[in-house]
Amino acid sequence: MTVARTLTVVMSSDLLTLSRACGLLRRRNLPVREFTVDSTGQPGFWQMSCAIDTDDATVESLLRQFQNVVGVRKATSSPPGPLSVPERGNATSSPGDAMSSSVRVYYEADTDRARLRDRVFAIIGYGSQGHAHAQNLRDSGARVLVGLRPGGASWKQAVVDGLEVRPVADAAQAADVIMILVPDPAQRAVYETAVAPALGVGKTLMFAHGFNIHFGEIVSPQGVDVSMIAPKSPGHLVRSEYQAGRGVPALVAIHQDASGNALPNALAYATGIGCARAGVLATTFAEETETDLFGEQAVLCGGVTALIQAGFETLTDAGYSPEMAYFECLHELKLIVDLIYRGGLGFMRHSISDTAEYGDLTRGDRVISPAVREEMRRLLADIRSGAFAKEWIAESRAGAPRFAELRRKAREHPIEQVGARLRAMMPWTEEGKRAKQKPASSKQPPPEREPARA
Ligand code: NAD
Ligand code: MG
Repeated sequence: MTVARTLTVVMSSDLLTLSRACGLLRRRNLPVREFTVDSTGQPGFWQMSCAIDTDDATVESLLRQFQNVVGVRKATSSPPGPLSVPERGNATSSPGDAMSSSVRVYYEADTDRARLRDRVFAIIGYGSQGHAHAQNLRDSGARVLVGLRPGGASWKQAVVDGLEVRPVADAAQAADVIMILVPDPAQRAVYETAVAPALGVGKTLMFAHGFNIHFGEIVSPQGVDVSMIAPKSPGHLVRSEYQAGRGVPALVAIHQDASGNALPNALAYATGIGCARAGVLATTFAEETETDLFGEQAVLCGGVTALIQAGFETLTDAGYSPEMAYFECLHELKLIVDLIYRGGLGFMRHSISDTAEYGDLTRGDRVISPAVREEMRRLLADIRSGAFAKEWIAESRAGAPRFAELRRKAREHPIEQVGARLRAMMPWTEEGKRAKQKPASSKQPPPEREPARA
């Protein structure tokens, strides 16, 4: 059925992107009744709108094609086509916007970059997150000190990266804003010995994860602001997206607002590390901590790895080759996840065969059975009661012997052996590239990758 539709495409403000988007319309030879290009209120973006009379299927395929155009950020239709997501607004004009009505999203235009200028930022720790926050803030014009243990491995790296490095206590003393980016189980000791003595009225204590504040491991003194900017991405992407002129989304939460400016100051930090370019969602320390732990345990890390291994074992136990099992249960996961990432479950289902989709819709619930859901609720209960936190802190304090043993066992799983062999045969993977450069006999263990925390 043909209906009047307005298509809206948000794109980077350059003529090449505009011409690519227009090319799509022109190739379809659609009767365009009205056509405008306007600013979006966000620097760096234009909004192209056009009114056309067309049917559902054409709109759906046009929206998909627009979304594939380099430089296009979003394509929607009004009334909505099957793929449309609600328009993303600007937090000042439409709080809450695209998601649930209670979630507020801040963008760069909602933040005050000037707040970066007259304050000194101490980044404590120079690992996955630390190296990205320190360099992004510095490149955004802020004065940055890195606080580390003298002689630690990352000290040299921070110096090589052109940063001013000091012992933790010195950096904390000299700073107005102290961001704690050492591993969660180490934070309490670092805080008590080197950070707490430096805190005073007017200073800000920041975190990228709510664990220690939420579970009461760190108790902040009155008079200081305590806030969180938690990038929803591993640190190396926080850095590389910033360098590419983009950013990764983040969460913002305020635990203590002594100055009355904790939120604008935290949002300025988000702009400094590039996250406000992608969107900063408002949350609380409790919500961030509990959902983060649940997500990584039940779905992203624990759930997915156990699902992959169980599928692999089911096939190999039944006599199928490990290579086939690896491809079906692990390798193809990326292709599916890429589709889900781009357009949600519906978009993925649209792209797979009807046979796959029917199997998905009739069998998925048998894998994630009521018993599995019950177990998920138990995981969540352990997170909320603090039982998981207590266990993890005790394990860390004891030198993490069980953790080391579990890591060792995980490395020995047959899926890891067959995977290493297969990836070495794929020329586009890191391992494949290395295998090509080396004589066949020289075997090397896989490199230590950056821990991609969820
Ligand atoms: P990491 O393990 O990558 O880095 C730790 C850094 O702290 C290293 O530079 C290390 O040398 C230093 N360090 C360790 N112990 C120290 C000590 N006692 N004194 C001084 N420095 C010490 O840590 P990370 O993954 O970047 O995590 C930092 C924070 O960011 C955590 O709160 C984590 O939950 C949060 N976070 C991490 C990610 C991620 O993807 N890695 C994502 C979001 C939030
Ligand atoms: Mg997470």
